[in-house]
Amino acid sequence: MKVAIGIDIGGTNIKVGLINRAGQLLQENNILVKECPSQNILFKELKNSIHSLTYQLENIELAGIGIGSPGANVTTGVIENASNLPWDKLPIVEFLINLFNVPTYLTNDANLFAIGEKVFGDARHMNDFVVVTLGTGVGAGIYCNGSLLQGRDGLAGEFGHVIIQKDGRPCQCGRKGCLERYTSASGLVLTAQEILNSGVVKSSTLQDQPIKELTSMQVMEAAASGDFMALEIFRVTGKVLGEALADLTAYFNPEAIFLAGGLAKAGSFLFEPTIKSFKENLLSIYPNDIPILQGSIQDNHAGVLGAAALVWDSEGHFKKIHSSVI
Ligand SMILES: [Zn+2]
Repeated sequence: MKVAIGIDIGGTNIKVGLINRAGQLLQENNILVKECPSQNILFKELKNSIHSLTYQLENIELAGIGIGSPGANVTTGVIENASNLPWDKLPIVEFLINLFNVPTYLTNDANLFAIGEKVFGDARHMNDFVVVTLGTGVGAGIYCNGSLLQGRDGLAGEFGHVIIQKDGRPCQCGRKGCLERYTSASGLVLTAQEILNSGVVKSSTLQDQPIKELTSMQVMEAAASGDFMALEIFRVTGKVLGEALADLTAYFNPEAIFLAGGLAKAGSFLFEPTIKSFKENLLSIYPNDIPILQGSIQDNHAGVLGAAALVWDSEGHFKKIHSSVI
């Protein structure tokens, strides 16, 4: 049996999955980014993780390895300048090719969600769509005229770093007012802290713990229990996101926009204010019914499935995504 390894590098977790040609996830490991402060430790963990996945099954042949990461340079195969990651320059493609001697592919992490949606998900029959990831950071994988939009260096779709508020919240990229500082998991927490610190809140379960220790999960849980302030935090977040998606539509004219990543799991708390704001801000030349949908692939695994799709492409559709192939 031929299998592919899909590696999804995020700001908190590195997921390593073993996937067959039908897109079934056979096994998955998780590596914590915070436990890999140096390149050497990370490479050792990756090696152990892939070995542990492949040694568990008999009669398998490794067809290739696909990797998605912030800061992926598709030309050099190096992960560099990723603001959420602790490594400066990570020659990951070279390392894995030397170790496993199989075709190895690298692309931007948000692209994985778009590729996965196109190959295995609800965008199978779409030529123009965008997947916006709302996790530790914010990104976009963009299909335009049936092809994944990459740009010269594979860095197209850095949607989290469009400035939506002049002189707004400081961002790790060094600028101010980036979308990511408002609509990522940490952006949601910043909004919560601002509202709770403003003194206008009379009563909220979010006040039960120190404001500094608040997490996005707690805001989600409070919203689920009907907490008025938590719902207001999502309303503010959705308003910003809807405006940004209306702008995104002006650039790419998609037939659908998918939201993926941890924050998208908030469901209607996020989607309702986002869709409302999107429609209010959409240029009138576009149809008012462009759907904003939850990513259709099981969210926890969308990244590794997309990474494996890089390997499974048999028609050469993703060939231009390679950073290196032996
Ligand atoms: Zn930024």
